[in-house]
Amino acid sequence: MKSDEVAETISWRHHLHRNPELAFEEHETSAFVARMLASFGLNVSTGLGGTGVVGTLSRGTSSRSIGIRADMDALPILEATDLPYKSTVPGKMHACGHDGHTAMLLAAARACAQSGGFDGTVHFIFQPAEENEGGAQRMVEDGLFTKFPCDAVYALHNWPGMPVGSCVARDGAMMAAFGTFEIVIDGAGSHGAMPHEGVDPIVAACALGSSLHTIVSRNVSPLEPAVLSMTQIHAGEAWNVIPPSCVIRGTTRWFDKAVGDLVEGRLNDLANSVVSGFGCKATIHYERRYPPTINDAAEAAFVRSVVGAQTEMRVEAASPSMAAEDFAFMMEARPGCYLWLGSGRDGANPGLHSPYFDFNDEIIPYGVDLWRRVVETKLSSG
Ligand SMILES: [Zn+2]
Ligand SMILES: [Zn+2]
Repeated sequence: MKSDEVAETISWRHHLHRNPELAFEEHETSAFVARMLASFGLNVSTGLGGTGVVGTLSRGTSSRSIGIRADMDALPILEATDLPYKSTVPGKMHACGHDGHTAMLLAAARACAQSGGFDGTVHFIFQPAEENEGGAQRMVEDGLFTKFPCDAVYALHNWPGMPVGSCVARDGAMMAAFGTFEIVIDGAGSHGAMPHEGVDPIVAACALGSSLHTIVSRNVSPLEPAVLSMTQIHAGEAWNVIPPSCVIRGTTRWFDKAVGDLVEGRLNDLANSVVSGFGCKATIHYERRYPPTINDAAEAAFVRSVVGAQTEMRVEAASPSMAAEDFAFMMEARPGCYLWLGSGRDGANPGLHSPYFDFNDEIIPYGVDLWRRVVETKLSSG
């Protein structure tokens, strides 16, 4: 990338950082992306999956086609940095670097439109709502791959835990599947001094809490990754009143579907049996949200070969992450590869979702060149 192109891409990134929008509300972001893609000469489609945008670029005569995805949404976090381009919207912030992913994919679209060194079709996919809300699933359900056929799909995430210039593209699992659960425990409230006159839901919740932690340690094989975390517990308002109900909420993670089934089944059994043992009633709401993010081995090998051909970049080995990613829905529909692009800084290096996080602009040339090379290699005109 030329230095003026890098500077311009950084200015797009800072513009997006100043103007964060949450899941499915990315109206300004989506309009900005659509305007830029049109100015590069791409065919632009808007409104897919709500605020999703697809920019299409064709060259030559080949029927081969690929898709490259960036995510556009921000998080409900109050930014704590004092950057000159910090969020102008209180309580909303690009704390996961999706501003950087979007800016890099825009720059890659422009580079491909200008170079034209490929034969086939590229769909540049800008999705809403990666954080929790499954914007990728909405786009797939809205006919993404029927309207924009892709032989293979690719996406990246900046990864502050790895140095700039490094990249991980594993065969198979990259990110875990996730579920959420809510267990409402209904008992009967009473005076705090006369517990025998009620049915205490807090005692039942405490017993259930320790029981739920036996699912991963006693039921799931020690050789299989799984997580169950209780992240909320709410009950009561007074020092001396036993409340009528208590709610526990949390998240589960797994890779193998049988493990996901086991965790959900045990959670249901334990919640019902432990809580009823205390005379309370459990109402369980369990939702499977994202499937695991699984790379196609051949597409991962392809991405590693493209990275390996870039002298300033290197492929690294790493374990999968128990975090989740909704690009999983696109890779359920099409073979593909999701990769991590090292973005660590020396010294203070706030992690993803920190109120001090800021996408590392140093990686822009790496990400843009990587996407351009993916296009030119996969759709080689040679
Ligand atoms: Zn995130
Ligand atoms: Zn993210």
